[in-house]
Amino acid sequence: MQDASNLSLEEAAEEHRELSETLKALSAAYYQEDAPRVDDAEYDVLFRKLQEIEVAFPELVSDESPTQRVGAAPAKGFGKVRHSVPMLSLDNAFNSEDLREFEGRVRRFLGLPHTEDVAFFAEPKIDGLSASLRYENARFVQGATRGDGQEGEDITENLKTLQDLPLRLKGDKNLHPDVFEVRGEVYMSISDFQILNENQAKAGQKIFANPRNAAAGSLRQLDKKITASRKLRLFAYAWGDASEVPGLTQSEVLEQFSQWGFSVNPLSKVCHNMEEAIDAYRKIEELRATLDYDIDGVVFKVNRLDWQSRLGFVSRSPRWAIAHKFPAEKATTLVKDIEIQVGRTGALTPVARLAPVSVGGVVVSNATLHNEEEIERKDIRIGDTVVIQRAGDVIPQVVEVQVDKRDESTSEPFQYPTVCPVCGSHAVREVNALSGKVDVVRRCTGGLICDAQAMERLKHFVSRNAFDIDGLGAKQIELFFTLGWVKSPVDIFALEEADKTRLQKIKNLEGFGEKAVKNLFEAINQRREIELDRFIFALGIRHVGQGNARLLAKNYLTLENLLNAFSAEQADPGKVYVDLLNIDGIGAAVADAVKEFFTEEKNREILKALQNQLVVIDFEAPSNDSPVAGKTVVFTGSLELMTRAEAKVKAEGLGAKVSGSVSAKTDYVVAGAKAGSKLKKAEDLGVAVVTEQEWLDLIGG
Ligand code: NAD
Repeated sequence: MQDASNLSLEEAAEEHRELSETLKALSAAYYQEDAPRVDDAEYDVLFRKLQEIEVAFPELVSDESPTQRVGAAPAKGFGKVRHSVPMLSLDNAFNSEDLREFEGRVRRFLGLPHTEDVAFFAEPKIDGLSASLRYENARFVQGATRGDGQEGEDITENLKTLQDLPLRLKGDKNLHPDVFEVRGEVYMSISDFQILNENQAKAGQKIFANPRNAAAGSLRQLDKKITASRKLRLFAYAWGDASEVPGLTQSEVLEQFSQWGFSVNPLSKVCHNMEEAIDAYRKIEELRATLDYDIDGVVFKVNRLDWQSRLGFVSRSPRWAIAHKFPAEKATTLVKDIEIQVGRTGALTPVARLAPVSVGGVVVSNATLHNEEEIERKDIRIGDTVVIQRAGDVIPQVVEVQVDKRDESTSEPFQYPTVCPVCGSHAVREVNALSGKVDVVRRCTGGLICDAQAMERLKHFVSRNAFDIDGLGAKQIELFFTLGWVKSPVDIFALEEADKTRLQKIKNLEGFGEKAVKNLFEAINQRREIELDRFIFALGIRHVGQGNARLLAKNYLTLENLLNAFSAEQADPGKVYVDLLNIDGIGAAVADAVKEFFTEEKNREILKALQNQLVVIDFEAPSNDSPVAGKTVVFTGSLELMTRAEAKVKAEGLGAKVSGSVSAKTDYVVAGAKAGSKLKKAEDLGVAVVTEQEWLDLIGG
């Protein structure tokens, strides 16, 4: 919309009519059906447009205008309650400047000298729905919603189910006013809201958009049993009809509310001047994310009640209060591009590059799109206009695509890549063998060569149960990787020869003396021979841990066999897959990952290069005549002569089955120091318990 003051009267009237109709329809959905059609920020933008038109063309203001009205008329089905003191809305401030102007208006209205400070009472603006609770002779007699401010819905019985609502005011009976209407906000905590929605989903019932709608929908129930089953709470912060007011300031009255048994928000406080008030706003805004209830701003009320009554009201709000709303955390912008990032584990993640836009005071130019399915589900395309949302420090997300703003002649659905954008290897989505579900994440299969994953893969490659190279741990890998010296496992074994000047360069690095470098090269050379199962494990294939690496080694026996099985010349690729599935202990997810890894040409190149550098020792089938073949063994306590992993590999190499728990079927329990419950169980079951040394003697080494 253009600037309102540039419009002709006819144009303005037309705009005014359209906006008023839209706002009325949105209000009805929001207040009467508890089912908002747009979010609050969007509603507020339209509302402000209407206000701007009315400022430029005051002749368009009528009693019917949404700017002059509060809420919506009571819904059908409820009894009506006429408020003897209207329940109003609040004027809004959107920044500190608006707050200072508010203070200026208050001062001018009251004619205060500069030396006189105005104290404000700051209260979090609870995002719920307001209710008026009438007490006569300290007994709760009637409760009502705000409705259109003049007339609300009778929800007495529903309100009686709230634990925070005293049915009788506490304290000395003789001191209670004869008539007193407490006003406050009924709300649902965020955790109760989540539980409610989970239960609703399970029961196939309506899911609420947010805690406010859940609270409104739960309170405005014709069946009070439903209200009783939902955990609603109440903060008291104002009053209506009152035969007597217990205090001279807002803060004193709220103090009295606490004594009567109401919950008063603990963050509320007196601010002695506007600067303190601005500071209070910042502090409450900071705390917002930690609260278990939604707040959408901070309300400031002139603390002195005599001043409040002198200030009085304008059409729909008091002159003595203002709500400083938190900045909108949603905004509309354009998707300029969709980029695919590759994470350290090979997961492809789509990111939307946006036309920069300010959201909640922060300029945002990227939003996460989560995964391929999310893009498909929301049909997010390059060039789309989208609504983005930012909550706290969380990465902004796209909440909605404005399909009507799309140019259908040029727009195309986004094509998700099936190859890794970093290394060009194919990228796949796994299928869960049990559920048959396709994983939402697409992953790059070029683990060994993909720059995005290389560092993590290299760390794994040299880790303890893999190549286990002395002096080449995670720290050194990071260093060499950053220097560009080691990008793939092949570079590790070429480190010494790669560049004669490098030796000198390594020596100059922090933490490396002449000796350390010599030791490092020696350690690398010592590992030029490696068992097949260790080698397979070192490759870091998804789902292939030590156990599966061993199963593969046992089945293929040599690296040559393994590579040949997956070579492009392989006549029947389906057969290799079936062969894999036929290995006892290998499931579909592992088979998929193994097949993907060994058929990826880029991985095969690395493997061939490694074959030239290393001797991969063929797998030796465990001898069946070993004394522990076929026996089940449990290792427990802390082992001193070997690591747990070594013990396991060795035992399995001899044909034993290593188990994690003791049962009647266990043959041996090898107990190290500080063995506990497993040892006790073995003793109870009469299972043979041996020391580490006895075990080594038994297996002959
Ligand atoms: P408001 O919510 O901005 O302010 C007034 C209300 O604040 C009071 O009635 C009271 O319920 C509440 N409040 C919370 N804590 C308070 C405190 N400590 N002291 C005093 N009051 C406190 O104004 P409104 O007139 O209720 O409604 C306008 C709001 O409703 C806007 O934020 C608008 O976005 C939203 N709305 C949204 C839609 C939609 O379709 N999404 C439609 C209509 C209205």
